[in-house]
Amino acid sequence: MSLKLISFIYNRTGFIRPGILLPDGKHGIDLIQAKIVPHEQTNETLLSLIKMMSTDSTIEIKLRELLASPPYDAVLSEHQMKIIAPIPFPQRNLFCVGKNYMDHVQEIAAVTPSGGGGGGGEVTATAVPKPKYPQFFTKVPQTVIGPNDLIPSHTATTRWLDYEAEVAVVIGQQGCNISPEEAMNHVLGYTIANDISARDVQKRHTQFMKGKCLDRTCPLGPYLVHKHDLNPRLVGEGLKIKCWVNNQLRQDSSTSQMIFTIEQIVHQLSQGMTLYPGDIILTGTPAGVGYAMTPPQALKERDRVRIEIEELGTLENEIGP
Ligand code: MG
Repeated sequence: MSLKLISFIYNRTGFIRPGILLPDGKHGIDLIQAKIVPHEQTNETLLSLIKMMSTDSTIEIKLRELLASPPYDAVLSEHQMKIIAPIPFPQRNLFCVGKNYMDHVQEIAAVTPSGGGGGGGEVTATAVPKPKYPQFFTKVPQTVIGPNDLIPSHTATTRWLDYEAEVAVVIGQQGCNISPEEAMNHVLGYTIANDISARDVQKRHTQFMKGKCLDRTCPLGPYLVHKHDLNPRLVGEGLKIKCWVNNQLRQDSSTSQMIFTIEQIVHQLSQGMTLYPGDIILTGTPAGVGYAMTPPQALKERDRVRIEIEELGTLENEIGP
């Protein structure tokens, strides 16, 4: 049984609480009621639990015991909890890797003539060299929204919203200058992210940040799967990663196609820069983004974007007004 950690709004109090999603996907264990996280009349997201887990390795054992035999008085039904992003208010910017799937590197190169322009065109087998180092950029914490939340269309700012299905890594242990061999000791688990990007804004400011940071453009969730339940698959054969827009399959790949592995990403990102429990790293998207389609397809109001990643569930959001 996978340990799936959630943050949810408890409808009796309106406060945010950390929990475990049970295998039926319809019930959860309230970790305040189960006395794992101290009770306070405040919002306590999963971040509180992640910080506790970073200094107390017995908590994972207790969580797995709860999962195996959920205490009757701490179980909530889906009607009592609204699942939100696992980390709804990240303490720092989200770190992102650009161009981490070779097929995506090629499709972007094919529609980006040197000298500017871009947008549309045939994807050719352009000979693009593998990057030597990962490309990093960030999204601000205020981009984060949860499953089923509306993504604003931002029509005053952009005509070109696009989706990017990605695996997000959540850091569990503080570290700096982490070696690739040690990297997994610093990872807590994984969830799904949709790195919504304003392509025209990205282009006109030449640097990624502005086009990646519009309000509410990082759907995250629905749950965080502990690495011990996922690493053999994720690090081995890979997980299927798919994205649909209005039921049209747009992205269909595997995390095994990543150029830089999760170990390499954590290693490179942590050089001279400390990573902290609760930090989030988006690991890049495979081919199939709207910008590289023929003709290019921007997201528009009422489009529904659904991402499925094996073992990590489904993250679905609609483009709002
Ligand atoms: Mg991305």
